[in-house]
Amino acid sequence: MAKIDKRSWAEPYRMKMVELLKVTTRPQRVKALKEAGFNTFLLRAEDVYIDLLTDSGTNAMSDQQWAAFMTGDEAYAGSKSYYNMEKAIRQYYGYKYIVPTHQGRGAEHILSKILIKKGDYVPGNMYFTTTRLHQELAGGKFEDIIIDEAHDATSEFPFKGNVDLNKLERLVKKVGSSKIPYVCIATNVNMAGGQPISIANLKELRKFTKKHGIRIIHDMTRVAENAYFIQQREKGYGSVKVRDIVKEICSLTDGATMSAKKDALVNIGGFLAINDWDTFEEARNMVVAYEGLHTYGGIAGRDMEAIAVGIRESLSDAHQAARVGQVEYLGKKMESYGIPTVKPFGGHGIFVDAKAFLPHISQDEFPAQTLAGEVYVDSGVRTMERGIVSAGRKPNGENYHPKLELVRFTLPRRVYTQAHMDVVAESVAMVYDRRKKIKGLKMVYEPKYLRFFQARFEQLK
Ligand SMILES: *Cc1c(COP(=O)(O)O)cnc(C)c1O
Repeated sequence: MAKIDKRSWAEPYRMKMVELLKVTTRPQRVKALKEAGFNTFLLRAEDVYIDLLTDSGTNAMSDQQWAAFMTGDEAYAGSKSYYNMEKAIRQYYGYKYIVPTHQGRGAEHILSKILIKKGDYVPGNMYFTTTRLHQELAGGKFEDIIIDEAHDATSEFPFKGNVDLNKLERLVKKVGSSKIPYVCIATNVNMAGGQPISIANLKELRKFTKKHGIRIIHDMTRVAENAYFIQQREKGYGSVKVRDIVKEICSLTDGATMSAKKDALVNIGGFLAINDWDTFEEARNMVVAYEGLHTYGGIAGRDMEAIAVGIRESLSDAHQAARVGQVEYLGKKMESYGIPTVKPFGGHGIFVDAKAFLPHISQDEFPAQTLAGEVYVDSGVRTMERGIVSAGRKPNGENYHPKLELVRFTLPRRVYTQAHMDVVAESVAMVYDRRKKIKGLKMVYEPKYLRFFQARFEQLK
């Protein structure tokens, strides 16, 4: 008998259509990266072989989603597709009132404008780039209340997305709860490496915020991946379905901003969801100015149909097992080559620790930005920086110096195969072999907002 101690998962789908990729040569890639100012965001996508820049809007839609796409109702007002999306959000997430937006940041913009007054504080379990920017533009100040383990690339704590309630309590004591319009809670914290928050922690937070009359707003971009980790790791949830865990998470919060481009398996779209009528009414007024009428909010009817189906598909246990399983496969493969990565492996990608990979390059010479470029030149695999460039500058102009200096290998959902993962891991191993010869970068152009998207660099001699 064959000796098998662990059964493999496989994707719960098969291919029906493929997209051909261009393979480039090393000299072509050296030239392309130089022209892109050593910023992988400025590469042309057609010069990329395996694109792990982001999992945002890069998902492969299912035949069911494409079929729904064709039924999109493009009416300017009262589109049937809006009501289909609203129904899915209410059914699977449980929020009451929905305002569609063109993507996640559209919802963040509107919510921040409504709830944040100048001088307010917005605590959160680590920042996200666009989320914090909208909080700051609305006059608020972001306060990091995530547990310390989240800032430690080597900690294997299973819920690195948890809130440190002592940090929150200290803030409430210092500034008073009237200066805190809401606590912003991300599920599967992107910037911490795709790390989950536990239900137990969320329940404690709910108790605390209730006592102080503070709302919880849920950045639910990757809620289903978080729910899968809860199923795998949290006591008492081993036999609870992902869809039921998602519903429970949402029930512990008062509203949400969503980028449907991640979990919900579409290419564009998002929404703001809220349980109180007054905030909803203001949001519905405001969306007309910034996004579009309240029954389309900047997305087409067909996209709302695809979101409705995508939400349902994202809550399948088999889908999440394959999704998170593929990330883990890549992580283990890199680990076998000795590559330093953030542990435990996250839900949407593998985060390589650039400080440990390139210890001879100081943070001000952008080790993660450098490494992302080196991997691209080696194999045409595109990744992105999540370190000092992404962290940007404080309102007073100083650079943030984040503890984590990472390169993110983000996996689009249902797009690449295990063989692609092998190619990626081998490429990183090749770069690791010659890491001592790698030199850092200097920034030669810096945009004012979200600089990581458009900044340009030159190689240090
Ligand atoms: C992507 C993302 C957003 C913003 O959503 P967009 O659709 O890109 O505007 C907000 N929060 C988190 C955690 C995200 O990953």
